[in-house]
Amino acid sequence: MKTELAQSLNLEDWQSWILPDAKYRAAQINHWVHKKNALSPDEMSDLPLAMRERLARDFEWPGESMLQSIRFSDADQTAKFSLAFEPNKKIETVWLPYENRQSLCVSVQSGCSLDCSFCATGKMKFTGNLSAGQILLQVYLARRRMNKDVTNIVFMGMGEPFYNYDNVMKAALILHSDFGSGISTRRITVSTSGVLPGIERFVREKQPFKLALSLHSAIPEKRAKIMDIEKKFPMDDIVKFLYDNRSELKPNQLMIEYIMIKDFNMGSEDADSLFKVAKKLDAKINLIPLNTAFAGMERPSDSEIDTFWRSIRDRGIVIINRRSPAKDIDGACGMLALKESTGHNEPAA
Ligand code: SF4
Repeated sequence: MKTELAQSLNLEDWQSWILPDAKYRAAQINHWVHKKNALSPDEMSDLPLAMRERLARDFEWPGESMLQSIRFSDADQTAKFSLAFEPNKKIETVWLPYENRQSLCVSVQSGCSLDCSFCATGKMKFTGNLSAGQILLQVYLARRRMNKDVTNIVFMGMGEPFYNYDNVMKAALILHSDFGSGISTRRITVSTSGVLPGIERFVREKQPFKLALSLHSAIPEKRAKIMDIEKKFPMDDIVKFLYDNRSELKPNQLMIEYIMIKDFNMGSEDADSLFKVAKKLDAKINLIPLNTAFAGMERPSDSEIDTFWRSIRDRGIVIINRRSPAKDIDGACGMLALKESTGHNEPAA
């Protein structure tokens, strides 16, 4: 019975699947699947017919059937892909083009088992982890549809990557490896809400990718008000672990994500606490204005954002003040929740 997407296999898996005397074919298949974005064995023109038939028999090849819609932003060049792998396993992926790079924000779970109070995904029903193939298909579909390469990957879409650790890391390694997309580890970021066992494993395994820690407040009591996970894995424990093991990570490997919420986490005490943690961990800070409006939370004004940003930057921390790309298509941070599209929509082919 076919139960696995072909995209879930890495080169080693293909080598085990193939007959021992035809190992070079494994590299060919792998090349088609992971470099040339092939979605069907029929596209693999240099393989013998019998092998294409065997591939079709042994694996799932859904083609583009999971693509529900692509919504393009009228405000910027971003696009949001809505995909359904199974009737109840729906996700979104966001295409973020910049001047000299194309970033893709990929999902790792359908919904999320956590419920950060500012995040639309957390309000959805959690329906399961994505396989490595389902994670990679988001990249390959985007490359095909946009007819451009993806230069940066951020695991910051739906779900908590460290609650789907094995599949996320398998996908990240395929994206990085020479037999996959060859994307530099500096351009692949795994973002966690603070799952300490996952962080420990990531460090222990010396994973080479960037690690982004979603803090959103560096004051534990305040953080607990917007992130339930603070009660399970307190930030003080995470900071202690990362501090004790900082030498295991590269200088530029660690980043703190911070969503700015008006009248909540943007005072001088908040800035001080954030600065201290970032300084202690030698981490960059990525500031993101709130994009949702749950529980009375509000987005700060541009001048409030500027003041907060300057108050930390002036103390010598590298701090990125990110705009909110894809906001008009509900594709910005915290907005992924499969709302019915209302804008410029391209239906699946
Ligand atoms: S912010 Fe991340 S971890 Fe929190 S609910 Fe949303 S998807 Fe889940």
